[in-house]
Amino acid sequence: MNKRVAEPYKIKSVETLKMLSYEERERALILGGYNTFLLRSEDVYIDLLTDSGTSAMSDLQWAALMRGDEAYAGSKSWFSLESAVREVYGYRFVIPTHQGRGAENLLSQLKIHQGDFVPGNMYFTTTRAHQELNGATFVDVIIDEAHDPTHEHPFKGNVDLSKLESLIQRVGPDKIPYVSLAVTVNLAGGQPVSMKNMRDTYELCHSHGISVMFDATRCVENAYFIKERESGYADKPVKDILQEMMSYSDGCTMSGKKDCLVNIGGFLAMNDEDLYTRARELVVLYEGMPSYGGMAGRDMEAMAQGIYEAVDDNYIRHRIQQVRYLGQQLIDAGVPIVRPIGGHAVFLDARQFLPHLRQDEFPAQALAAALYLDSGVRAMERGIVSAGRNKVTGEHNRPKLELVRLTIPRRVYTDNHMDVVADSVISLYEKRDTVSGLEMVYEPPTLRFFNARFAPVPSSGK
Ligand SMILES: *Cc1c(COP(=O)(O)O)cnc(C)c1O
Repeated sequence: MNKRVAEPYKIKSVETLKMLSYEERERALILGGYNTFLLRSEDVYIDLLTDSGTSAMSDLQWAALMRGDEAYAGSKSWFSLESAVREVYGYRFVIPTHQGRGAENLLSQLKIHQGDFVPGNMYFTTTRAHQELNGATFVDVIIDEAHDPTHEHPFKGNVDLSKLESLIQRVGPDKIPYVSLAVTVNLAGGQPVSMKNMRDTYELCHSHGISVMFDATRCVENAYFIKERESGYADKPVKDILQEMMSYSDGCTMSGKKDCLVNIGGFLAMNDEDLYTRARELVVLYEGMPSYGGMAGRDMEAMAQGIYEAVDDNYIRHRIQQVRYLGQQLIDAGVPIVRPIGGHAVFLDARQFLPHLRQDEFPAQALAAALYLDSGVRAMERGIVSAGRNKVTGEHNRPKLELVRLTIPRRVYTDNHMDVVADSVISLYEKRDTVSGLEMVYEPPTLRFFNARFAPVPSSGK
């Protein structure tokens, strides 16, 4: 089965890319404080900062925008979205939100009490921030393999059930409002959770009366990995696999900006009617009426259409294979990347890539800056800068993984763009000892990776 898979769409509208000179890129990088978040997008050639809200919509989604019903209450477009979520994901109740973190805010406020513990399979920035704002302590219960970037585990997002069980024993089930299960795990490298692990986690939790809430942001990608890797699923449509996955949860938060193929939007879904009733009241304070939750009618209509398109087997097969196409070129050239290749991104292992830099010299941040300078490709740091500081000691959190994420937007770039990215990363790897480290010259108090500014430490490179 080595048949090539081309993009399962044809291009109807194009956006011209600007290509800056080396000197122009250098100027842009200095202006942006060596933080790729602070670059202007028009100065970027291939933008792999994030797959969030950067998808290309289909002709049918653009047409759906015109069908948007902007009524304040009872909008037709809300009912389109609600039925798409119910049909594809299988939950009973849906609360629309402006994006994923809006749903995280509602869920955290509704379920967490001061002093609670929320176990999860590795943290996600906004998810953990909302849990902590509401007084919970996040506890990582992912399998140890997830912290090893070279380990070829097929389901590196899995929960270590013994870690979860011992937390339940230690703090008691009453102190655990829910388990927060990301499918796939962004910060582990877009790694999936197996169906068996979801089922086992759900059963363990329910035997203690604890509910399981998915972070469903990339659940379709997770479903495709199950189809490829878990026995019994090869011949099942992704849509059916997804339904089974969601049956092992009590609800989810969703960032529509990823697997729903839209530029903005999200939702909170659940099966529990009491939680739904309370969420309907809270959403009014933070997002808007429960029939729009911060979205325009047209946004909801486009998201409903995107939810159906995302579970098309041809779409998701190419999506995963395009990411793998980039990753495999890097592996073949000996570039250290997180293995196995994940669902939405290729992650460069900056510790291995730049062994001459200490973690305090922000190796992943330095590598992302160097890549932009080399070719105008924009990537994102996922390492010590993103991990922030310990609330109590004020020290840097020191994640084992120091990564640069090359995130592939959905349906935006062709495989030719992936070739250009691969060439740049490989040439940078060949001259890696010329990359110098960075120092942080401005540090914002929360989610510092968005706005921090850096300057090179000239002595750290050679
Ligand atoms: C993007 C993301 C979120 C937050 O969603 P937004 O729509 O950006 O608010 C939550 N969890 C994961 C895993 C994400 O990737």
